[in-house]
Amino acid sequence: MGKPTGFMEIARVENPYRDEAARLRDFEGLHIPQPTDARRAQASRCMNCGVPFCQSDFGCPLNNLIPEWNDLLYRGREREALERLLTTAPFPEFTGRVCPALCEKACNLESDALTNRDNELYLIETGFEKGWIRPRIPRKRTGKRVAVVGSGPSGLATADLLNRLGHAVTVIERADRAGGLLMYGIPNMKLPKNAVERRIHLMETEGVRFLLNTEAKSEIISEYDAVALCGGAKKPRALNVEGIFAVEYLTAATRAVLSGDVPAINAKGKHVVVVGGGDTGNDCVGTALRQGCASVIQLEMMPAPPVERAANNPWPEWPRTLRTDYGQLEAIHRQGKDPRIYETTVRRRLPGAIETVKLKGFDPIPGTEQVLPCDLLLIAAGFVGCETATAAAFHVERNSRGNLLPADGSHHLRDKLFSAGDMRTGQSLVVRALADGRAAAREIDRYLKGDVQ
Ligand SMILES: Cc1cc2nc3c(=O)[nH]c(=O)nc-3n(C[C@H](O)[C@H](O)[C@H](O)COP(=O)(O)OP(=O)(O)OC[C@H]3O[C@@H](n4cnc5c(N)ncnc54)[C@H](O)[C@@H]3O)c2cc1C
Ligand code: SF4
Repeated sequence: MGKPTGFMEIARVENPYRDEAARLRDFEGLHIPQPTDARRAQASRCMNCGVPFCQSDFGCPLNNLIPEWNDLLYRGREREALERLLTTAPFPEFTGRVCPALCEKACNLESDALTNRDNELYLIETGFEKGWIRPRIPRKRTGKRVAVVGSGPSGLATADLLNRLGHAVTVIERADRAGGLLMYGIPNMKLPKNAVERRIHLMETEGVRFLLNTEAKSEIISEYDAVALCGGAKKPRALNVEGIFAVEYLTAATRAVLSGDVPAINAKGKHVVVVGGGDTGNDCVGTALRQGCASVIQLEMMPAPPVERAANNPWPEWPRTLRTDYGQLEAIHRQGKDPRIYETTVRRRLPGAIETVKLKGFDPIPGTEQVLPCDLLLIAAGFVGCETATAAAFHVERNSRGNLLPADGSHHLRDKLFSAGDMRTGQSLVVRALADGRAAAREIDRYLKGDVQ
């Protein structure tokens, strides 16, 4: 284990945010990485407890061997720690930046938990910096060909593992850049796009082929030995008023960051209203502030969550408590108050404004209407499953929740055809999409070996 008394002597210290005033001027990363000594000290706090909930189903969906690599990091054996991490984690440079760190919420130290996410990011970035990350090219090829539709985290994880197992993998992606929501969705300040491109180049060197600007059609089923549908679940929940969907707005913002052009949808000088108080809404708030909006508010239908865990939400479950994320903190810095307005929705659009109404449950409360300035209405009200077009193109039925989840709970839809990631489970998290992609790859491998019909 780490230092037996480490957790008593050393306080939890996360990578600090850059100062709000500075970070609002650019789309660069949000956090300041800490030096090696600080990282080792943080790793020394791991108690290697008898029941490491952090790597159980309550914690990390990849079942990362957290106490083991924390111990190696504490002892200054970074390279071995990274090797241990990479046995289960395909792309720690993504999870080390965007994972909500379910493992930390399940840590026995509770609110004083280990800084696993920051430690993980340190290990992988040290690995890239020191040249420890080399292309891993399989010694033998099986002669089997697999197509992966979609290059989001689930598609990348499926492709990565199948390639390591020796199969010839082609990733088919309709967008002009690979990465799915890692590229066009999660903003650059949370996940710099050069980190995504670095991984794609590495996978190409390892033998994975990427076909971009290509819409996958059912004909590919006859061309490959297996096809994995990893097309995501980006069908947005619509409202009764017109607005721009969050992913469309965030995609335009990232395109502008990458090209240096003015964004096709620009919040500059506008009063922005974001409908949806969740993480996607928060990304819209942070992006609108960076583009120089005149003001931003976020409407949320539900009441504010409690500050402390409720009795029916005990540790080590994920805490359903109030979180104030980076965009909301930036709005507080810029506007002097939290941008979220709870138990409120938009009723109709007016010229340069919207009318809102308070809710009790899902019912509007008469007489609570309010007019707010609004030049740009962004809809971040959740997702309702995968796109009907991709499901129809492959002649598969979406289930009642809009996903392609086989009735037996596996990844196998029918002969040759598999599904993984958000397309199978509904909109989720990067770490869950990675875990699901790896599970699908193992199933496809068994199928290709003839172990499964
Ligand atoms: C704005 C936003 C921010 C988020 N932030 C976070 C975060 O901070 N942390 C976190 O853990 N999770 C976050 N998530 C959730 C996370 O991004 C998703 O759960 C994850 O990306 C799902 O991965 P996926 O591979 O299943 O699908 P996606 O990432 O959606 O990728 C699917 C890909 O398939 C392609 N595709 C679809 N159909 C076809 C077709 N017919 N032919 C060719 N290509 C096709 C699409 O173009 C897309 O590139 C966020 C989600 C959103 C919307
Ligand atoms: S992937 Fe997420 S849950 Fe797993 S160890 Fe990393 S931060 Fe924790």
